[in-house]
Amino acid sequence: MFPDPSSRSAALFQRAQAVMPGGNTRHSIAISPHPIYAQSGEGCYVTDADGHVYIDCINNMSANIHGHRHPAIMARVNEQLDKLISAGMPTEAEIALAEAMVERMPSVDTIRFCNSGTEALMFAARAARAYTGRTMIAKIEGGYHGSYDGLDLSNKPMPENWGPPGRPATVRECDGIPPAMAEETLVLPVNHVEAARTLIREHADRLAAVFLDPLVSKLGFLPLTKEFLDMVREETRAHGIVLVVDEVFSFRLGRAGAQGAFGIEPDLSAFGKVIGGGFPIGALGGRRDVMAVFDHLPTGTPRVEHSGTFFANPVSMTAGLAALDLLDTAMFAHLDALGDQLRAGLRTVLAELDLPGMVTGQGSLVALLPHTEPFSDYRSFIAGFQEDGGMLARAFAGMINDGVLPVYPRGFILSSPMGADTIDRIIDAARNGLKKAREAQNAA
Ligand code: PMP
Repeated sequence: MFPDPSSRSAALFQRAQAVMPGGNTRHSIAISPHPIYAQSGEGCYVTDADGHVYIDCINNMSANIHGHRHPAIMARVNEQLDKLISAGMPTEAEIALAEAMVERMPSVDTIRFCNSGTEALMFAARAARAYTGRTMIAKIEGGYHGSYDGLDLSNKPMPENWGPPGRPATVRECDGIPPAMAEETLVLPVNHVEAARTLIREHADRLAAVFLDPLVSKLGFLPLTKEFLDMVREETRAHGIVLVVDEVFSFRLGRAGAQGAFGIEPDLSAFGKVIGGGFPIGALGGRRDVMAVFDHLPTGTPRVEHSGTFFANPVSMTAGLAALDLLDTAMFAHLDALGDQLRAGLRTVLAELDLPGMVTGQGSLVALLPHTEPFSDYRSFIAGFQEDGGMLARAFAGMINDGVLPVYPRGFILSSPMGADTIDRIIDAARNGLKKAREAQNAA
């Protein structure tokens, strides 16, 4: 049962609190009253420290697109581990993954690797600043781009600090981010074409880059509209501003990532998660002339430094290439069909049980929200959170006890080892979880 104070997970959490603040080293996956500790994984299943087996619908926040320990990835990683783990020398494996990414992504002429999405976005900001000679960057309200000080801003502002709708305030995500850093970041209202255009034009001579997450992961996978995307491309091009697309989460939408699915032509793209085949990775790629800020060959000194002990380590490179090799057009069709089946099934369950709620998402990313009205931007997304008396949270806890591990409290991230029968199991667990949550609510 979750939560269970007598479980091994609960005991591990106690133990962790003595040596880690909050017993935690990754806030984004902290759940109350205690986390569920993972022990092992196989295919689309993960087993916790108490031996409970779940269909894994977290998939390490999108990274594990092929689930756990996929045999094709394991074979190549094991072969690599037998040869070399890391060295202070480049390896052929990094060239092979770079070639695969360049082949897939029409906007990527050249690419460089790092260890996380956060780093990729941080280096994107640095590259854009060097390329343009400007210092300011822009992002959308409610968009998440990792933990870099310059972008960890206005991810979840609230009415008391978010400023006027057409001119959002830049709100620091937490203490420790220098206010001076926030002054260098402009926040654009999501999908508000004219208001955002005005802001970009007003700041054009200071703006080095605009960062976009085309399918906004933190907003129930809200897609940016074509009009908004076109406007940003038009204005950034007109004013010599670098357009950066964050593919860290949404690369899993298609063979050429989210930008292929949405028809965007960015100058730079930041990657992570999926392209590491389950191992730590980040990458920054894009147009040759912009990426040239990293080229040390002409003068012996690069304009932008880019180094890290584990950058392009051959294990991540090998796993990433193995994962990409599996991601052909047929595989994306399979992943999309799983997502469609789950969205349709969850909608049927809501209708059957006559419960309010909304199912959103695209491809293999699915969200179950308490919203009843469509939302189109950050503020309508926040306003749409109906007070449901903890109903969905309880339903998700019910699903966990039914052997399905969702992204608590509202999402499902699918993996390629799943089949139609797996999705049926997830839908059944959602039906049971929602039914029980409603009974508990009625009884209260
Ligand atoms: N961008 C987006 C859209 C993300 O979802 C994430 C991570 N969830 C990041 C950037 C940061 O990536 P990482 O956790 O690898 O630093």
